[in-house]
Amino acid sequence: MKVHVVGAGLSGSEIAYQLAIRGLKVILHEMRPSKMTPVHKTSYFAELVCSNSLKSDSIKNASGLLKRELELFGSLILRVARNCAVPAGKALAVDREEFSKQVTHVIRESGIDIVIEELRYIPDSKEDIWIIATGPATSDSFASWLREKVGHNMYFFDAVSPIITADSIDYSVVFRADRYGIGNQDYLNCPMNEYEYDRFYEALINAEVLPVKDFEKDLLFERCKPIEDIAKSGKRSLLFGPMKPTGIIDPRTGKQPFAVVQLRKENLDETLYNIVGFQTRLKWGEQRKIIRLIPGLEKAEIVRYGVMHKNIYINSRKVLDPFMRLKNDRKIFFAGQITGVEGYLESVASGLYVALNVYRISKNQEPLELPKSTMTGCLLNYILKGTDTTLQPMYANYGLMGPANKNREEVAKTALRDLENFLNYSQWKEGGIRENTVKGF
Ligand SMILES: Cc1cc2nc3c(=O)[nH]c(=O)nc-3n(C[C@H](O)[C@H](O)[C@H](O)COP(=O)(O)OP(=O)(O)OC[C@H]3O[C@@H](n4cnc5c(N)ncnc54)[C@H](O)[C@@H]3O)c2cc1C
Repeated sequence: MKVHVVGAGLSGSEIAYQLAIRGLKVILHEMRPSKMTPVHKTSYFAELVCSNSLKSDSIKNASGLLKRELELFGSLILRVARNCAVPAGKALAVDREEFSKQVTHVIRESGIDIVIEELRYIPDSKEDIWIIATGPATSDSFASWLREKVGHNMYFFDAVSPIITADSIDYSVVFRADRYGIGNQDYLNCPMNEYEYDRFYEALINAEVLPVKDFEKDLLFERCKPIEDIAKSGKRSLLFGPMKPTGIIDPRTGKQPFAVVQLRKENLDETLYNIVGFQTRLKWGEQRKIIRLIPGLEKAEIVRYGVMHKNIYINSRKVLDPFMRLKNDRKIFFAGQITGVEGYLESVASGLYVALNVYRISKNQEPLELPKSTMTGCLLNYILKGTDTTLQPMYANYGLMGPANKNREEVAKTALRDLENFLNYSQWKEGGIRENTVKGF
């Protein structure tokens, strides 16, 4: 059995390496430099396309726990990152060129067959396994083929509203109610009087937005407008759009508020809520200020900021099984940002999960699901099984792991213990004994 990995980004490089050191025959397909993406600048594998920071290294932060989990898996990407670290306070930041160079070197020395060519489609094959890890800038022709494979369950840009933790909402102000009293009281409502609305509006129209990149211009805003653009079209425009109060009665006053911001459940555990209709391109600091002007959200803990940018990904909830393979073609797996996870290390984590199960399948063992007590398990559970049938990309955050007021150190301890047991049970670690084939790694 051969394993083809498509895309030598963060996720694909990790997968190819892990399977190769476990003795599988791996073919890695990467199109750069023969064809570049609009965001990559080099021919190196695992290029960091934007920030050189892999975020916080503290266990109290979701990225810190994710890093510990990747370490337990034996992640190559994390090992190289630590090798190339530059001082960055509590964050793990790297010398980006050195990082990508080292990953490329290890991959090239690991007995992996490398094909530098754009893959336009996956040929029919009964024996081989394919893992698609072509990322947010998947090439157009491959994206067209993919679209035929998954139908409408594919997105070409993000339009994500901010997500906050349920615990950080002030329930003495926010109330449950349905418009015209029709529904199951699924929505939370933040009421605003005219003064509060004016203050919010002024802050919103004067807030700084992120610049639109050239390659995003024609794709963005075809379908939905950012909230700041709706606001700029007229002072009352929000009252007929995302802040419409019609039919919503505040039970404490018996009256309809001047404006209402609605919150919708984001996950089955009801630990997260998204702010309905607040997709935005505001800078993160501005989002924080503006959200905290909403009555009841003065102390909101934002676990996911709103974004609108080009990002090719599939609706994993609809098309993938729990092991991240296509429901209608179990020889094709997906990993990395194309599955709806977002971020460098989140992409690596999803790749490790796929690699583990491909390795097990190669030994005729059943695939396994990750424990839901781990950060990686919760993140993948979210993208594969969230409440909504549409999927908004998500990065690692503690809100995915249950009530936000739980002791994070305890949550992290349990996660790492359970992951360690899982990795032993799955025989993943035993598989890695061929490691250190490349000097220094
Ligand atoms: C503009 C931008 C800025 C970002 N900034 C950040 C940030 O600051 N921090 C952060 O954590 N995340 C950031 N991200 C997200 C980050 O890029 C991804 O999370 C991460 O790179 C995804 O890893 P991946 O392996 O899924 O995809 P990638 O790392 O993008 O790798 C995919 C690979 O597939 C190759 N490929 C594509 N199509 C084909 C094809 N048809 N045939 C062969 N090869 C192909 C590409 O050349 C690429 O090498 C950003 C994304 C974008 C688009």
